Amino acid sequence: MSDPIDPPAPLDDLRKRLDHIDRALLEALARRREVVEHVIRTKETKADFVRDQDREEALLTERVSLGRELGLDGYFVTKIFQQVLDNSLRIQRDHLVAEQNPGVEHEAIRIGYRGTEGTYSHEAARKHFASRVEHAFFRGYSTFRELMEGVQAGGLDFAIVPIENTTAGSINEVYDLLGRFPLSVIGEEVLPIDHCLVALEEVPLGNIRRIYSHQLAIAQCGDFLAGLPGCTVESYPDTAMAVERIKRANDLSQAAIASEEAARAHGLQILKRRISNRRENYTRFMVVAREAMHYDARIPCKTSLILATKHEEGALVRCLNTLADHHLNLTKLESRPRPNVPWEYLFYIDIEGNVADPEVSTAIDELSRDVSFLKVLGSYPASTTESARPSVPKPGAAPDSSSTEAPPAATARTRKAKLPVSRETTPPLDVAIKKGYKLASRAHRASDSVVRIGDVQVGGGEEFVVMAGPCSVESWEQVRACAELVRDQGGQVLRGGVFKPRTSTYSFQGLGYEGLDLLVRAGEEFDLPVVTEVMHPADVQRVAEDASVLQVGARNMQNFALLREIGQVDRPVLLKRGPMSSIDELLAASEYLLAAGNHQVMLCERGIRTFETATRFTLDVGAIPVLKERTHLPVIVDPSHAAGVRQYVIPLAEAAVAAGADGIIVEFHPAPEQALSDGPQALTFEGFGDLMARIHHLTEALRSD
Ligand code: PEP
Ligand code: MN
Repeated sequence: MSDPIDPPAPLDDLRKRLDHIDRALLEALARRREVVEHVIRTKETKADFVRDQDREEALLTERVSLGRELGLDGYFVTKIFQQVLDNSLRIQRDHLVAEQNPGVEHEAIRIGYRGTEGTYSHEAARKHFASRVEHAFFRGYSTFRELMEGVQAGGLDFAIVPIENTTAGSINEVYDLLGRFPLSVIGEEVLPIDHCLVALEEVPLGNIRRIYSHQLAIAQCGDFLAGLPGCTVESYPDTAMAVERIKRANDLSQAAIASEEAARAHGLQILKRRISNRRENYTRFMVVAREAMHYDARIPCKTSLILATKHEEGALVRCLNTLADHHLNLTKLESRPRPNVPWEYLFYIDIEGNVADPEVSTAIDELSRDVSFLKVLGSYPASTTESARPSVPKPGAAPDSSSTEAPPAATARTRKAKLPVSRETTPPLDVAIKKGYKLASRAHRASDSVVRIGDVQVGGGEEFVVMAGPCSVESWEQVRACAELVRDQGGQVLRGGVFKPRTSTYSFQGLGYEGLDLLVRAGEEFDLPVVTEVMHPADVQRVAEDASVLQVGARNMQNFALLREIGQVDRPVLLKRGPMSSIDELLAASEYLLAAGNHQVMLCERGIRTFETATRFTLDVGAIPVLKERTHLPVIVDPSHAAGVRQYVIPLAEAAVAAGADGIIVEFHPAPEQALSDGPQALTFEGFGDLMARIHHLTEALRSD
């Protein structure tokens, strides 16, 4: 531990202390790496190398808890240790590669990328070859073709090329070159892309008249650029060169779209960060070499293929069925025009698996029955699949240093109680159709539908999903504190109303789009998807750009214009049951969404109106098993609006768990007595911790029966 600081210490002294501490941090990381290398050498069997997500989660939880004892924020500690663990995994993977390809880690390597220093490709190259950086030489090329030629001719050992972006889509030229050059894919890398607007000095946005960038970056920032109508946008060969250009021009009215790194490298200012259309913006790169590399079966791999089907009926379907027959998960399917054969196509397919695995090699053999061309581009360690994602700690297990009493343990992934659904009592299709729904019926689809909200899976699977937060977003401080608690207690989705359906027109109506921005920002800070209600059909498209889940409020369950509009967007929907609606009317309403094309529907039981006045509404617990019988859609329960008073919320939530719901949506507030809406039913922060612990214990108890 460092010495206590005697105030007032001069700034220079304090900075020296920081230098000292940072050095110690780096030395500790270097020592950690050495230990990891020793650990790897003690591993022998295949089982030793299998990634143990449970152990990683437990380790993270323990570190978060220790961090809190030392007064550090749990989220901060999580982020740091995710990187540390990720690095250990890379070291382990490189070890396995080196074992099969002796000497490789000491060889000097020449790596080509497109563009100049400071481009995203350069960053991806350095990230990918980080463990061999001492022996690596990086060189920029001006075209993808030159890069491929460089590898083919032997001047380069590897080339790293962008293949797709999550906003702008596939990079067709690269796909076509992969088809033409006799090269192999030996790796992939995923880089988060955070475009920034870069200028010479901190000037108001309105002063910018001309913006330069690479055409793909321009495409990814179209929405931001549309808000600068007086600006000319010009495409430039690469993002880093665009930064160089505006620096040379020395003109305060010019700006470039590029990475933070490029701005830093040229000593320029960032006017605005995160200007991409999509908040989640990633580019996937492929690493190509002359020869394929062989990866140990213990490393989770992907395999890339190119094929052209025979010109026969059903040939593509048969190819895809062959992959399915061998239980191979398809992660990408792209079609490109087949050179010299008009109106025929090459299909580029990525699957999870390694050619060293007999399932994969047999499937590839069988594919040859239905193809007129087949090329295996290679197998390589996966970066985009489930097994390659970083673990999350088990929040809640770690007491917050600020509270005197430790909240009981809850896990990040509270598991669902598994209750059998009787197939014998599923109503037949014609009965469902008479009641106004077909696509929503169990008879139409027997297995549970799973709705994905980012990494969270609602329905079917193992998880019991908790969506939680304030009734209304009221301020940045309020929503941020709520998001932090959801994250710390292991909830998966942040809720918050910004368009509020209020009984009285004089009541608080919500902060609108300003509130949506706060909600989304808070969600981003704590890695939580967000759910919010949309009330007007005209708001649907705009809310869907930012919110992860659209909520249809109970009062709008039969607002058919709204349902039709939401049916057309590609976002999950939480459809609440109207207080005066029957179960079948709820299902018929959900059919509007499904029939319009949106199949990511979750139903929500939130209490109905009865003669009882002790609770705000009457939670219809019976609706849960009935819905499970009649529909494949996930069922969420809202104990807050049903109860109307805080003290009944936890028992109702427990009833939902026991009756087989897939999750709950629940309200809490930092100061319920000051809440601008629904204060009486809001749990306190402590109450929310209790709720999480209770449902965790209950689900575990039900599972062990
Ligand atoms: C809400 O969830 O904020 C809400 C208004 O709920 P309901 O539509 O169920 O009344
Ligand atoms: Mn509410």
